Amino acid sequence: MTKTRCVIVGASAAGVSAALQMRRMDFPGTITLVDTDPRLPYERPPLSKALLEDGASALVPIQPAEAYRDLDIELRLGERVTEVDPARLTVRLGSGDILKSGRLVLATGVRARRLALEGGDVDNVLSLRDADDARRIGAQLAGGGPLVIVGAGFVGLEVAAVARTRGIDVTIVEAQPHPLVHALGPDVAELLTDLHQGHGVRLLSGVTVSAFSGPAGRVEEVWLSDGRRLPAAVVVVGIGVEPRHELARSAIVDTDHYGIPVNEFGQTSRAWIYATGDVASQRHPNLPQRGRIEHWDAALRHGAAVGSTLAGEPVRYTDAPYAWTDQYGATLQLIGRGRPTDDLVLRDGATPGRFLAFWMRHGRIGAVAGMDASREIGVVKRLMAAGVPVDGEQLARPDTDLRGLLKKRRAADGPVPVGASAAP
Ligand SMILES: Cc1cc2nc3c(=O)[nH]c(=O)nc-3n(C[C@H](O)[C@H](O)[C@H](O)COP(=O)(O)OP(=O)(O)OC[C@H]3O[C@@H](n4cnc5c(N)ncnc54)[C@H](O)[C@@H]3O)c2cc1C
Repeated sequence: MTKTRCVIVGASAAGVSAALQMRRMDFPGTITLVDTDPRLPYERPPLSKALLEDGASALVPIQPAEAYRDLDIELRLGERVTEVDPARLTVRLGSGDILKSGRLVLATGVRARRLALEGGDVDNVLSLRDADDARRIGAQLAGGGPLVIVGAGFVGLEVAAVARTRGIDVTIVEAQPHPLVHALGPDVAELLTDLHQGHGVRLLSGVTVSAFSGPAGRVEEVWLSDGRRLPAAVVVVGIGVEPRHELARSAIVDTDHYGIPVNEFGQTSRAWIYATGDVASQRHPNLPQRGRIEHWDAALRHGAAVGSTLAGEPVRYTDAPYAWTDQYGATLQLIGRGRPTDDLVLRDGATPGRFLAFWMRHGRIGAVAGMDASREIGVVKRLMAAGVPVDGEQLARPDTDLRGLLKKRRAADGPVPVGASAAP
């Protein structure tokens, strides 16, 4: 009897997580991970925190090579899946090989959006998505600044922090009034503005880039919508991402504006095809509507849920989305998503380098953001998961013992019966 083969397209956070989980759950078939990147699958988050100055040595592998061998996970690296045949249940590789695939997982992620401006397609205008991008940016920055970053998203801000730490002159151009304002709201986003300005970043908000100029093959000036011109040795564009969902289209799987729509188990509009990670357009209890969750932790958990489902034990990914970003030696952590209708509570004593903000919803914490507040975030995560009712005024006071709120709740709930778990 031939074994079922599961082909996973994309060997990054979500794809590798799905494969590992399938093996943990004793999936009996063959698992093949395919990725265009020839390197052993590596983590993306470290790329923007260090910027590779010395080539591949700074890469952090997701798993050592032996792990794939020991778990009998076949790696086809440096190969692109070019087509999916929905009638024959096969995928075609760039090499011409055709793989029969009883189950297919699309974990193809996203690509960086480009600025549609003449002259922007040159060596010193870069975006950051993979190790090659990080190496190119690192090499360009080795020559010094000025560095102009277009877009104050997570990646743009991290690149700014790394560059400033190396003493490079940095200007960020952001169309919105504050960095990450959609994720954090204006009050918290202003603290981030202060953090970067405090480290000498020039943050120009409410403006866009209108043109590039320079000699052939190089940008030396960035022109802004308000008429200003900025000198630039390097330009990093971080204006968001778009889904890589071409394969889904070739398989006549539904796609939408966000990516590949999936049900609560990661299944697409074709029963044998699943999608996971950044490319998946999912309904999630923490999202007001269907959408992508572009965070490492979500890619891992969603991938693992899809892996379990494929191994015969359907699992939903419902954890509150968690994200972090490292800037100037401090870590900003976010759990859940704030909504415009939430009441924002900023803990008294907030400074750009250390703060805690809560988005209150119906007397409970709907989302939280904390800078340099890992211990508190750990407790808040448990308060959120347990749905503990809390008072916003209490949360605002820095002397309120968050752990005490959790203990009080436990005491009110009474002893946990034998055999039951106290955790939600
Ligand atoms: C620079 C950077 C820093 C980040 N930092 C953080 C952070 O600090 N905190 C955080 O929470 N999140 C962070 N993220 C986000 C996080 O890394 C992503 O959410 C995560 O990598 C998504 O994983 P994924 O597997 O869905 O997709 P991706 O990591 O995008 O991987 C998709 C893979 O699919 C492959 N692929 C695509 N099409 C094909 C094809 N046709 N054939 C073969 N292979 C294909 C690609 O080569 C790629 O390897 C960061 C992302 C980047 C880029």
